[in-house]
Amino acid sequence: MNTARIRRGFPQTWVPWIAAGILLSGCARMPSRGMEALPTSLSEICKANSVSLQFDSVTQVVTLNKNNVTAKVLVGSDVVLIDSEKILLSGPVRRMKEGLFVPPDFGRKVMERFGARDDFAIKKFREIVIDPGHGGKDPGARGRSGLDEKIVVLDIAKRLKRSLEDKGINVIMTRNSDEFLSLKQRTEIACRSKADLFISIHANSSRAKNAEGFEVYFLRELDSKEKKNDELKDNQRIKFRNLAMSRSAPAVENIVWDMMYSYKQGESRRLAEYLMLRTPNSLDAANRGSKSCAFFVLRNTLIPAILVEVGFVSNVKEERLLKTGTYRERIANSLAKHILDYANKD
Ligand SMILES: [Zn+2]
Repeated sequence: MNTARIRRGFPQTWVPWIAAGILLSGCARMPSRGMEALPTSLSEICKANSVSLQFDSVTQVVTLNKNNVTAKVLVGSDVVLIDSEKILLSGPVRRMKEGLFVPPDFGRKVMERFGARDDFAIKKFREIVIDPGHGGKDPGARGRSGLDEKIVVLDIAKRLKRSLEDKGINVIMTRNSDEFLSLKQRTEIACRSKADLFISIHANSSRAKNAEGFEVYFLRELDSKEKKNDELKDNQRIKFRNLAMSRSAPAVENIVWDMMYSYKQGESRRLAEYLMLRTPNSLDAANRGSKSCAFFVLRNTLIPAILVEVGFVSNVKEERLLKTGTYRERIANSLAKHILDYANKD
């Protein structure tokens, strides 16, 4: 499905790159430019650093791999994605008759990452947006003895924030108090940030009195119409402005968006599955599994995103637990521990 979109957008991409290629190959042959101005051959720099290189001629995406670090480079674009991080080069990666060429800062900004895995320990997620559900006029679910979801989830979110910050992660909260925030505002906060992960915290409710347990949602595969909804397009514009991609052609944005989307999808699912194998056990809570869905906040964030349902306020036993600071602290610590374990695995 993605490939079809890329193919349709592709011919437009060629025009500026062919022009740039002609210009650049002209420049590269001018003797007065000096050695520093010459672009570096990507295959040579990869060979020298034992980094594997794969080029997909349909999508024009180059995948570089070493030590479990993956970089995605798009021919014609100055953005490189390394795991969840976007790196801006001083110029675009270009395809010429002799092969692919990268700007001079490629070595310092990209290649060094492959050799220095240790420096990036606990770095898969460096900044996390925590989104306590509901708030203000929207109480969320209400427990049988009157416990409001908006209150419990805000408290758990604050504890999770402390726990993550203790481990060196930057945290952004969508709300810090009992205030109302639209779903759109929540996703915009994520898009304006440099965060690598979005976690929405909720508590469940059911008419079935004995429904109980912990579950995590991740985004299901969206169809092409869903991928083009207005909110998502708005957030995409915010994100691309953040990435300083305003110089890029719309077709390039589409391809970068496809790359970000497939990264987001895979990473959200893997993290949800990882958490479900560990967190419910550590809380002695029932395991309701990881589930895919198309909730607004998952659909309209451009980074990996999960929604955690910490338990049922409609279940007498779980409501009693959720009222206690001890249990909220255990949820927060367990989530923080397993998110960071996930970030550090491999
Ligand atoms: Zn909720």
